[in-house]
Amino acid sequence: MNQNIKTCIFTIVLYISSFSQTVTPVVDTNYSFHEGYRLLSRICDEAGGRLIGTEGNYKGISILTEELKNLGFSVNNDDYIIPGWKRGDDKIQVIAPVKKNLRAIALGYSIAKPDFETELVFAGSGTDSEITAAHVQGKAALVTFEHLPGKDPVYRYDAIKSLAAAGATAAIFIDSRQGGMVMCSMGATGGKAALIPAFATSFEDGKWLKRVIQNKQTTRLFIHASDSCQPVTVSNLSVLLPGQSSKKIVVGAHFDSWDLGQGATDNGLGIAQLYEMARLIKQLHPENYYSIEFVWFNGEELGLHGSKHYVDNQNTDDIIAMVNFDMAAAPNGFNTYGYDELKPFCLAAARVFSCIDTAQKIINTPHSGSDFVPFILRGIPALGGNSDGPLPGGKYYHDFGDTFDKIIEEDYRSVVTVFTPVIISLANSQQFKLPHKTREEVLDMIKRTHSESLLRVMKMWGY
Ligand SMILES: [Zn+2]
Repeated sequence: MNQNIKTCIFTIVLYISSFSQTVTPVVDTNYSFHEGYRLLSRICDEAGGRLIGTEGNYKGISILTEELKNLGFSVNNDDYIIPGWKRGDDKIQVIAPVKKNLRAIALGYSIAKPDFETELVFAGSGTDSEITAAHVQGKAALVTFEHLPGKDPVYRYDAIKSLAAAGATAAIFIDSRQGGMVMCSMGATGGKAALIPAFATSFEDGKWLKRVIQNKQTTRLFIHASDSCQPVTVSNLSVLLPGQSSKKIVVGAHFDSWDLGQGATDNGLGIAQLYEMARLIKQLHPENYYSIEFVWFNGEELGLHGSKHYVDNQNTDDIIAMVNFDMAAAPNGFNTYGYDELKPFCLAAARVFSCIDTAQKIINTPHSGSDFVPFILRGIPALGGNSDGPLPGGKYYHDFGDTFDKIIEEDYRSVVTVFTPVIISLANSQQFKLPHKTREEVLDMIKRTHSESLLRVMKMWGY
């Protein structure tokens, strides 16, 4: 354990004592915590990838339920039905100018289609002008990650919509990462089926196809697309540590993952961190002013379904703040996700935690990609960690390589070390005023933080 993290632990007592009458040393016992890490190895190796509706997801839920019960928690299992997606035995074969099986995987919500042969054309980065220029009518379109200078990258699901409208037979996206990787992601938003079969292919296969097409060689594919969209029942799991007040701090991480690897980094790490923090707080600081609810959301990868379901079925007035953990590691700052009013709390923490370098590391940058989104769109303050540099295992995310062996135990431990006292402090921080934003204030926040992608989510959900 590095010195910074040790210092953080030693400051826990001081920090909590500044906010709470009840001072409990959360110190020495923390040094050896590894229960969440053990749970992570079980979830990864016994359940595996946890795409919603798959055996891995249900098995993982039963492992987590069993482990939480072993800690003495009463586990709330909230079942609900969402638009799901089932991967088929897809196959893409290049049949001209040479024969080759393509390394490709279907995107979420991609659809089935009777086996067909089709010409492949190159449609640049998937902007409307490039699609028009590529004449994709009746042909499959190859789309690169290399976007035009001065233009924002086009979301895959937006390119798929435009390609379908232009009459394309299928969409194939080139991965930006080298080494045969194929990154899964959503092929459509709002739980809707994609309008055409859509796939990701490797950097190497994709670049080769692009060169072949640009050398004016006619490229033809055989496509077997057998994925299906169907409703599935999934569960959010939660445990509650009741406080003096029924108002609560929600601590969340998404439980589901893609199916290719084991979902270790994204977001087995968060599952395990939440478990460990719940265990430590229950054991060492169970009495707090606000209640603390730990929630493992499902269906995040296919469109934040679990967190939206949660927010839609709660009295949101009771939620003081949400803290989110998605691929979190080595925190040396905070992200207040567009909620400036959390800054005094973060600054107080930064003064105490030497591993949170400076106030400059407290950023205020919302985006549309994790479970805090339904909360901030309802005006609820949300907080997460901020780190320098990418997580070592992060480059494998949404892919075959996201397995337990990529997890560095320190990355798991550092988040627990810093955020256990942060959550306890937040649960005893009644002196900080954290009013919910009104709808107008949320819209203003989106404008000020240039987070226009949130507007689309807001509209999609009718908030
Ligand atoms: Zn994630």
